[in-house]
Amino acid sequence: MPPTRCPCGTGLTYAECCGRLHDGTATAGTAEQLMRSRYSAFAVGDPAYLLATWDPATRPRSLELDPAVRWTGLEVLATTGGGPFDVEGTVTFRAHARARGADHLQAERSRFRRAEGRWVYLDGEVGRPLTASGTPAPAGRRRRSGAPGRPAPPRRGTPGSGGR
Ligand SMILES: [Zn+2]
Repeated sequence: MPPTRCPCGTGLTYAECCGRLHDGTATAGTAEQLMRSRYSAFAVGDPAYLLATWDPATRPRSLELDPAVRWTGLEVLATTGGGPFDVEGTVTFRAHARARGADHLQAERSRFRRAEGRWVYLDGEVGRPLTASGTPAPAGRRRRSGAPGRPAPPRRGTPGSGGR
């Protein structure tokens, strides 16, 4: 297979970048690396990886990716914490997608935490369109737990909806 560039936009090949995380050869050292690999998992269609890197407390029971959505780019705008010596971190990003002939832009500030040495995705706040400085506009934001989310939501199983 010819080398393809990683969807997350580092300029590395997929095999050198998020592919190593997806196949379990490597684990994310930082929250940003995990966030990038999760974006790439959406792009290459790997819901198992998304579930495996989701905090069990907020993880949906199942996740279906919309095959009509083509992820076209990722911009990481800001990070806090999330480093090798942190246990929590956030990543603010914009994800671009194209679906059904229309372009979509998703802005989110995702929260990550380190669980048993591995970074996992906790939840995210979907912002309104970000300001030029990259700060999510505070009004009207809501919590969500599916980042990078899909332009066409319905998802089976929301956290807390289980019958346990
Ligand atoms: Zn990558």
